[in-house]
Amino acid sequence: MPECIFCQIVEGRLPCARIYENERVLCFLDINPINPGHTLVIPKAHYATMLDITAEDMQACSLVTREVARAIFRATGAPGMNLLQNNFRPAGQHIDHIHFHLIPRRANDNFMTTWPARPADPSELETMLVKITAQM
Ligand code: 5GP
Ligand code: ZN
Repeated sequence: MPECIFCQIVEGRLPCARIYENERVLCFLDINPINPGHTLVIPKAHYATMLDITAEDMQACSLVTREVARAIFRATGAPGMNLLQNNFRPAGQHIDHIHFHLIPRRANDNFMTTWPARPADPSELETMLVKITAQM
């Protein structure tokens, strides 16, 4: 997958600020951080989205994400953190190699200031419950 930026980073053909790696996973600083310490966790193998990643690589990414999150908390002293993973363009995915954002957060840092939630109609919840469980 030579055209994938993150595959090129994994292969060492593009530079990155490498925080940690093991056989399956690589972590490096985001080049455009939302806050200092913003880190990306990726599987070394190429998968576009969460629909594609194997259970083994998902598990490996999850475990590393937890450990790196702990290090970022200690290193930055940030009082909060978001774990964010975007799939497809409508959800804000720009690099088609699955990645997990770890974003240290502080009060009033102006990230995600709105979250357009609204109370659901009970019938809407029931409709979605039936639709989704039918697909499990
Ligand atoms: P997405 O919008 O796909 O969820 O996030 C992609 C992230 O990758 C962005 O936060 C962007 O700043 C980061 N990014 C894009 N290109 C590079 C790069 O070449 N190096 C690093 N370290 N991060 C990158
Ligand atoms: Zn890739």
